[in-house]
Amino acid sequence: MSLQAIKDAIAGKKMICPKCENPIQSYEKYAETIDAVRDGFNILEVDSLGERVTLICGNEGCAWKERTEYPMEFIVED
Ligand SMILES: [Zn+2]
Repeated sequence: MSLQAIKDAIAGKKMICPKCENPIQSYEKYAETIDAVRDGFNILEVDSLGERVTLICGNEGCAWKERTEYPMEFIVED
């Protein structure tokens, strides 16, 4: 899952906090990825590594946050 896909999912309110079930508001990267390298060398297996992010609920009264390499698990489809 690319960082852009994570951004889009959050912007589209498709990532849901498992604690309060409201849309997750933000994220932080906690490890650098090799996106910059991929731009130059077209390394296809990069996407399978996933993005390492901390998902942050950010809704009032909810302190949930979680580090994950699999942020797609928090995406719900309509
Ligand atoms: Zn929450």
